[in-house]
Amino acid sequence: MEQDIIQLLPDAIANQIAAGEVVQRPASVVKELMENALDAEAKSVEVWIEEAGKQLIQVIDDGKGMSEIDARMCFERHATSKIRQTEDLFRIYTMGFRGEALASIAAVAQVNLKTRRASEELGTAVQIDASQLVNHERVQSALGTTVSVKNLFFNVPARRKFLKSNAVEMRHIIEQFQRIALAYPECDFKLYHNQQEIFNLVSGKLGQRIVGIFGKNYRKQLVPCQEDTPLLRLEGYVGSPEKARKTRGEQFFFVNKRYIKHPYLHHAVSNAFEGLIAEDQHPFYAINLEIDPQHIDVNIHPTKTEVKFEDERSMYAIIQSAVRKCLSVHNFRPSLDFEVDVNYDPMPNAQKAIDENALYPGQSDGDKTPFSGGFKPEKDSRQQHNLQNWEQLYEGLKQSTPEFEPTSSGRIESRANQPLSMQSQEKRKALQLHQQYILSPVKSGLMLIDQRAAQERILYDRYIKALDRQQQASAQRLLFPVEIELPPADFALILDMSDEIHNLGFVFDIKEDQRKLVLQAIPANVGQEQERELFEGFLEQFKHYQSNLSLEQPQILARSLAKRASSRLRVGLSSEEMQHLIDQLFASSNPNYSPDGKPIVVMLSLDTIKEFFNK
Ligand code: ADP
Ligand code: MG
Repeated sequence: MEQDIIQLLPDAIANQIAAGEVVQRPASVVKELMENALDAEAKSVEVWIEEAGKQLIQVIDDGKGMSEIDARMCFERHATSKIRQTEDLFRIYTMGFRGEALASIAAVAQVNLKTRRASEELGTAVQIDASQLVNHERVQSALGTTVSVKNLFFNVPARRKFLKSNAVEMRHIIEQFQRIALAYPECDFKLYHNQQEIFNLVSGKLGQRIVGIFGKNYRKQLVPCQEDTPLLRLEGYVGSPEKARKTRGEQFFFVNKRYIKHPYLHHAVSNAFEGLIAEDQHPFYAINLEIDPQHIDVNIHPTKTEVKFEDERSMYAIIQSAVRKCLSVHNFRPSLDFEVDVNYDPMPNAQKAIDENALYPGQSDGDKTPFSGGFKPEKDSRQQHNLQNWEQLYEGLKQSTPEFEPTSSGRIESRANQPLSMQSQEKRKALQLHQQYILSPVKSGLMLIDQRAAQERILYDRYIKALDRQQQASAQRLLFPVEIELPPADFALILDMSDEIHNLGFVFDIKEDQRKLVLQAIPANVGQEQERELFEGFLEQFKHYQSNLSLEQPQILARSLAKRASSRLRVGLSSEEMQHLIDQLFASSNPNYSPDGKPIVVMLSLDTIKEFFNK
């Protein structure tokens, strides 16, 4: 008889497996430790980061601390002080409750814990390396708890290798930090990276917290929103419609202070803005919903940004009407007194940039930038290749309309039936419709081109090429440099990609200490005005596309800029410009579809046209 083969996993391994879910990157550790601090009723939380958390993540709180035994127990899996019985699962007001975080973190790092309760004179220090207890002693210690996580993933090389650049990891950390700081405006928060202060947020009202995080510009655009119903209490701010942005990103829902993602409730807010903002725009909002935990199921995923509600339809209705109401009040009283409500001067220090050594891969070198005027259509092998594709596509159409067979030379002679052939020196006829579409008669019927999609495709190809070759696409110098101040997360993002952005044609200097870019040049052929809007729009678009995990960074960059730039191009085209556009389109990598997959060209065949006339 064969032996039984199933065994229980040793704890260290089980913890490491659990860590795979809970601890994805340094930012996950920051989130868990900050949440623990707040669960322990801390009023002040300091986060110290070294090397984007790869070397050190330290969270210092002034919360209630732990006893000597608890200081050891908290590293056991499923060890929690927050629930004791099943019913407690439906009374959860704390951030944590699974008792998994510390055990998981300690399985994949070296963790030092120091903690003291108010009732005790001595505190406790515990050190755990990869789930192994190394030290446990009574020590002098400040009130509250300090957890230091060193060398994350040191014993899981595959995970450590998988970590992204410091700038990217730091951006995730800032994102987590911001979410938590937004949910707890009544607490002080500080964030340091490599000893440099990034945020210093003083306790206050939510409006002040928003301004502290996102900058002074937000002061004027916040519309307070409040609603009290038996099902839920809603409180927060929405951005005024005039300030809505093109892409998503600064939308925050909290349920009992827990940040959540909830597309359905998000829709309720968007819907309330209907008619006030363009369809492709997204309003800022930071809204906390207080709701009895028994109507919620947070126990869905360890990272817990998803929750289920018992009565989502009613919640939808309440949220929508609350937002509508506050917006209509705002409309009648556009000068609502925000200064009083949000009267707050962000700390000058909060403007400080993220450490340059860690985040700054080298400044774009303005000197070596070739500034050239217009774009010259290039002929390269790819272009030739595509021409053939188009000829083939055309031939396919030809067969369906045999009466338009080309002559033996392969050329079409009749002027009325203009060929698509690029060899032809003859101008193709084209007509512009509503400054949006180009109509061009071709041999097999009528070709309809979506002008903007075509421009987007052409620009996309150009930018991809520039990124591939690491050569700058042509740029146009600005008469007056434009200063752009960025929030910390965006600034880190730009620093991380400054070489690539430079290759797209943006030339800028960086004022590290003020978190500012000084734009000197922008990509050529994208229209002259509103450089700031182009850059900011590009950045927003980038952040939007970034959530699409199937895209590589160059694709995201090229797509973002192509989308933004094509929306700015002049809409009225001369017939030469239309010709040029068609030529460039046919020479592109995919004339049929825009980078987003929208059709660019539609053929109206002669057969279809005949059908219109019952022929
Ligand atoms: P959970 O938060 O889900 O309970 P954790 O592994 O994050 O699980 O923490 C385990 C326990 O350790 C908590 O329930 C709490 O009792 C204690 N603990 C963790 N961090 C702190 C802290 N900063 N201050 C006080 N107690 C803490
Ligand atoms: Mg926890």
